[in-house]
Amino acid sequence: STRARIVILGGGAAGMAMANRLSRRLDGARISLVEPREIHHYQPGWTLVASGVWQPDKTMRPNANFVPAGVDWVRQPAVGIDAEQRRISLADASVLEYDYLVVATGLQLNYHLIDGMSPDLVGTHGIGSVYASIEGATRTRDAIDAWLAKGGGKGLFTAAPTPVKCAGAPIKMTFTTLSRIRDTGRRDAFQLDYLTPGAGMFSQPWINDFLKQRFDDEGINRRHHYRLSAIDPAARQAEFTFVGPASEFTSHHELRQAEFGREGEMTEVVDYDFIHVVPPMSAPDFVRESDLIAHEGPFRGEWLDVDIHTLQHNRYPEVFGIGDVIGAPINKTAASVKAQAPVVEANLLAQMQEQPLPARYNGYTSCPLITDIGKAMLVEFGYDNDMDFLPSFPFIDPRDESWAAWVMKDRMLQPAYYAVLEGQA
Ligand code: FAD
Repeated sequence: STRARIVILGGGAAGMAMANRLSRRLDGARISLVEPREIHHYQPGWTLVASGVWQPDKTMRPNANFVPAGVDWVRQPAVGIDAEQRRISLADASVLEYDYLVVATGLQLNYHLIDGMSPDLVGTHGIGSVYASIEGATRTRDAIDAWLAKGGGKGLFTAAPTPVKCAGAPIKMTFTTLSRIRDTGRRDAFQLDYLTPGAGMFSQPWINDFLKQRFDDEGINRRHHYRLSAIDPAARQAEFTFVGPASEFTSHHELRQAEFGREGEMTEVVDYDFIHVVPPMSAPDFVRESDLIAHEGPFRGEWLDVDIHTLQHNRYPEVFGIGDVIGAPINKTAASVKAQAPVVEANLLAQMQEQPLPARYNGYTSCPLITDIGKAMLVEFGYDNDMDFLPSFPFIDPRDESWAAWVMKDRMLQPAYYAVLEGQA
């Protein structure tokens, strides 16, 4: 079985980790890594770039540094998956056949689902979005700089109606911007609103309570059940659609159904000086259009259909999924990838030998939640929220905001992340 053909789709955090792990374990297997980009992006650094703490070049490395010898690096995007025939079609119309497939494409940013919005707008008209790209994170920094230079006004910080990668990032952007506002000495001249489709702030109950309290203490207005549905950049107006029970709708602003809103929806138009846009996210379209997408349940039509513990596809046993693309009820992070990679490695090898799958992923995820520039909390949890905080750094109390946790985010996590790519961690 070492002559098996293995295709890994996507060479980001997850795909690169799998390429390194599998090439080490499977001497002589034919492994293809499909990854169109020359540059690897360290996305966890983007919040630090957008907050003015890091320079952008610190987040980029050539992919050639990480692709192991002996792995065939296919430098173009996949455009289709035929799961029945076990064939991947590529952008140049050629076809890759596989015996085993690892889907690690990451996720797709659906800015187009917000009317009037596109990633090209980031950095213009007071629009920021840390998720867009490294250029987007840099232009987000510039948009925040411009807002601070104005000396006051209203900032809107939004959250998405779908699962997102690093669910803490929209919150981190709110806190680091607040920190920079305080530094100007004019806190009172700035209004910050946080608008989220959810009833809460975060999936983990303890963090949710902490964040609600902190936002209230800091005078950041929380508006729940609000989904960003349209934006008019030139007018600096955002339209929000109310997604909660009708009885809870209280318009603080002007209700304008006629201009923006769709039939029967309650919408509200809000003026802003700065807005941080968090787009809806899903699996990439070519994965959604394949038979590998979930057909039922909460991930239907949007995310890869895997067993959330073994990470094996629920209908195609020769297919495994890892990273942001999978349908699982947890935060999508590089920290989860670190915990998933040994599970996919062990289970794929067992599947190749027709053995029972030995490894299970417990949902581990973590997020260094930046609460101020110079302060962070390292929060860690899994599928079972009651499970204690699973601390990997016992000397840092996750419930404390500390400088030690900030130093971890600022200095220690990036080398640890590259160790994951190299298949060492
Ligand atoms: P990615 O790393 O995004 O890689 C996907 C790869 O697939 C890319 O290289 C892409 O080019 C490739 N690809 C896409 N489409 C195709 C195609 N059609 N064909 C072939 N290849 C394709 N995580 C943390 O643990 N801690 C943090 O503090 C943290 N902060 C974050 C802050 C921000 C602003 C962002 C955006 C993310 C953050 N993350 C954080 C999340 C982390 O970056 C992701 O969870 C992680 O990168 C997921 O790895 P992945 O391989 O699934 O996806």
